[in-house]
Amino acid sequence: MIERIGYRIFSQFPECCCVSRWIPERDAPGEGKQGEEIFRVSEMIEVMTESQPAVLARQVQSSIVKNVISAGVADKCDGLVTSTGNLNLVIRTADCAAVMIYDPVLEIAVNLHVGWRGVYSAIIGKALDKLTTDYNSRPQDCIVAVSPAIGSCCYQVGPEFRNYFDAAFLTERNGMLYFDLKGMINTQLIAAGVPPDKIEISAHCTRCSSLQLPSYRRNFTRNRIWNIIKIKGE
Ligand SMILES: [Zn+2]
Repeated sequence: MIERIGYRIFSQFPECCCVSRWIPERDAPGEGKQGEEIFRVSEMIEVMTESQPAVLARQVQSSIVKNVISAGVADKCDGLVTSTGNLNLVIRTADCAAVMIYDPVLEIAVNLHVGWRGVYSAIIGKALDKLTTDYNSRPQDCIVAVSPAIGSCCYQVGPEFRNYFDAAFLTERNGMLYFDLKGMINTQLIAAGVPPDKIEISAHCTRCSSLQLPSYRRNFTRNRIWNIIKIKGE
């Protein structure tokens, strides 16, 4: 019932686990009583993290990134950082991207919730700056996986986006404007110093992939992809 994808770039670092898990839309109940039941967060934590300690961000489309050391809810933030082993960092998405970063030299894990507001407010650069300031981490050492997210095939936006982003990340088709969120994320990672060959971006578009990923744009679902990164403990 639960699908998952892993990330090839993490296979060289078995001490760190990075995965995206979701209930395919065909199995996800709609709104209403049954939906509330299956999407109760406490149960979902059990299922998605296999009952291991987890931190969930109460995501608010900000650029706030927090250091976390124990299980629970990190209030009002969109980024989690830890050097604690056996602690799942969870970012839940349905069209936005999770940007999962690992520094294998210092063994630090990061999980970011990045939508258009995230790239606009530069959460990626701020998170990597924080790693440098708080841990002495170097962006060139980091590896990054970017989860499935809405692609430029489907991410229709309003004309105001021309005021926010460079034209290179906007495409016009049939009089409508489309935003390349993943392209923008890739550019910001590279600008922050992450080598291009250490970045893996899922090609799946949440809205149109055959994987039946949760997509808010497609059907206003409350279902989410659970994007999880964890440093394995002793
Ligand atoms: Zn698409």
